[in-house]
Amino acid sequence: MGRYLVFDAKRYDRRSLEPEAESAGVNLKFYDFRLEPETVEAVHNASGVCVFVNDKLPAEVIDGLAEAGVEKILLRCAGFNNVDLVRAAERGIQVVRVPAYSPYAVAEHAVALLMAVNRKVARAHQRVHELNFSLEGLVGFDLRGKTVGIVGTGRIGKVTAEILSGFGTEVLVSDPYPDTAWAEAQGFEYVAFDDLCERSDVISLHTPLTPETTHLVDAAAIKRMKRSVVLINVSRGGLVDAKALVKALKKGRIGGVALDVYEEEEGVFFEDHSNHILQDDTLARLLTFPNVVITSHQAFLTNEALAEIARVTIENMRRFDADEEPLPGTIVEL
Ligand code: NAD
Repeated sequence: MGRYLVFDAKRYDRRSLEPEAESAGVNLKFYDFRLEPETVEAVHNASGVCVFVNDKLPAEVIDGLAEAGVEKILLRCAGFNNVDLVRAAERGIQVVRVPAYSPYAVAEHAVALLMAVNRKVARAHQRVHELNFSLEGLVGFDLRGKTVGIVGTGRIGKVTAEILSGFGTEVLVSDPYPDTAWAEAQGFEYVAFDDLCERSDVISLHTPLTPETTHLVDAAAIKRMKRSVVLINVSRGGLVDAKALVKALKKGRIGGVALDVYEEEEGVFFEDHSNHILQDDTLARLLTFPNVVITSHQAFLTNEALAEIARVTIENMRRFDADEEPLPGTIVEL
């Protein structure tokens, strides 16, 4: 039987993975630290490593894994931008992921963030706890009748578009691989990204992070947007140029921002830093704006999503142990 090392394992990971592993007869060892160049030495006597979004697997980590005899990388997430796939293929290491654990979890969090930033829920909550019941500065807008732009109409983008359409919005969508039948059936309009930027009151990003989508929202894109635009990013931090975002926010050039991801989130998000001095000046500045809401990469965090991540991950480990092919659709191809 193989041995699988689970990195960046939180209590909720153990709670969902352990019972599945026990019933499948899979051998797990949990580490609460991330897999990265500094920690790859911890890998020995393992057939596979199981990692999450902020583990870092560049070429040197892949080489370390190969030298330790690791044959499989199992991502407990959909995105795989943190793995050097070319090196993994060169070293004969197979990479699998959980492609679609719950698009609803992520889409619903995007909508929660939109509502929170538009209706100033976090500010209002803080105020009333200080017995400040004033409504000054808490004016939002009706979503009904507004134009929503969804960038990326894969699994999560589609669910987000459909939920937001329920508010009575007009939905614009953009994707280099449009699903026109779906858009027609829903009454949504595919437009170019620039057009979407110009026309939308709310923009929500749902593309993977690739060289083409890195800094998709940069200074030029922000300039095209309405000054009142609300920008939502629950996908990957690198989609937004955070420094350009800060500049625009300082100039009052953007209505509201809600982020579940941040381009330099590794080493910050998922951890308690309340006793540390924050070294990231861009994040520190973002946290000062009254019209910015930030959560710590928690869009995936529902019972349903964790259960599905555990089911798919452990089933793939069981299949690897039994010399079977992984579940269909879970192999990350180059
Ligand atoms: P998906 O693969 O189903 O859909 C992605 C869509 O983006 C595809 O339709 C693709 O054609 C489109 N796309 C690619 N490049 C584009 C571009 N330049 N402009 C517009 N569209 C483009 O992926 P998904 O399951 O919907 O997930 C989307 C992303 O959400 C993931 O890649 C991941 O980064 C992120 N995510 C975040 C969390 C979280 O907890 N915050 C959880 C899961 C996924």
